[in-house]
Amino acid sequence: MRWTQGDRSNIEDARGRSGLRMGGGAVPLGIGGFILLALISWATGTNFSSLLNSTAGDDSSVNVGRSAPVSSSPAEEREVDFVDAVMKDVQSTWAQLLPSQYQATRVVLFRDGIDSACGMAESATGPFYCPRDQRVYLDLGFFDDLRSRFGAPGDFARAYVVAHEVGHHVQRLTGIEQQVRAAQQNNPTAANPLSVRLELQADCLAGVWGHAASQPGRAAKGQVELETGDVEEGLRAAAAIGDDRLQRMTTGRVMPDRFTHGTSAQRVEWFRRGLASGNPDACDTFANSAAH
Ligand SMILES: [Zn+2]
Repeated sequence: MRWTQGDRSNIEDARGRSGLRMGGGAVPLGIGGFILLALISWATGTNFSSLLNSTAGDDSSVNVGRSAPVSSSPAEEREVDFVDAVMKDVQSTWAQLLPSQYQATRVVLFRDGIDSACGMAESATGPFYCPRDQRVYLDLGFFDDLRSRFGAPGDFARAYVVAHEVGHHVQRLTGIEQQVRAAQQNNPTAANPLSVRLELQADCLAGVWGHAASQPGRAAKGQVELETGDVEEGLRAAAAIGDDRLQRMTTGRVMPDRFTHGTSAQRVEWFRRGLASGNPDACDTFANSAAH
C-alpha cells in the first residue's frame, strides 16, 4: 500500500487514559492469553474474557488499568499515522458514494480497555464499532496478532479491519443496523443468522473501499493506493478470521449455530464482491442466499 502521512484528524488518541476496570480492581492477565482472546472475541463477536479470572496471570502478566501518560515507540506512532491515513481514505470514499448520508467518524485508539458509550470494553473484545457514539474503537495490539497468530500480515490486512468497522458505521447511517437489531429482538432465533449477514455486509463494504483504493494514480494525489499483492493480503485476512477456522483452532470442531461473522469462505466471497464491483448495491447480504 502507498499512503501519505496526515494530520491525525481521524484519530482520537485515548491510549493514555484507557484502562481496564473489572470488578473495580486491576486484573492481571497473561499477555499471550489476553491477545488470543482478543482475536477470537473480535472474529466471533463473543467476549471470551469472561473466561478469565484473577489467577490467569503468569510470568508475562501485566497490571492493566494503567493511567500513566502514553508511552509509545516510533513503530507504533507509524501505525497511528497509518490508521489515520486509511480512515481518511475510507471516509472520503464513502462521502463520495453516499454524499447525502455519510457523516465523518473517528477511530478511538485505546489500550487494555476503555469506557465507551457502549459500556466498558476490553481489548479482548477486539476492534469494534459503537453505534451509540458512532465511533470505531481499536487497540493497535490487535494488528500484531493478525500477523503473528493468524498468518495475515501486511498493511492491507490491517486496512481491511479498519474498513470493516467503517462498514458498520455506514450500516448505522443508512439505518440497516437499526433494522437488523429490531428484527433480532422480534425473532431471537434469527439473531445469529442476521448477525452473520450484517458482518458479511461490512466485509463487502470494506471491499467497496478496496475497489476505490485500487484505482491507479491515487498515490500521486496523496491518497491511499493499493499495490500488487495487497488484495491477496486482505483476502488472507478475511479467510484467517472466519468463525469456522477460529472455532476449529480453539475447539477442534465447527459449530455453525454459534457463527456470528460467517465462515472464512463467506467472508472472502463478500469481500471479493465489494472489491470487484466497487458498488455498495452489490452488498445486499440480506437478499442473497449466499449468506446461509
Ligand atoms: Zn464486524
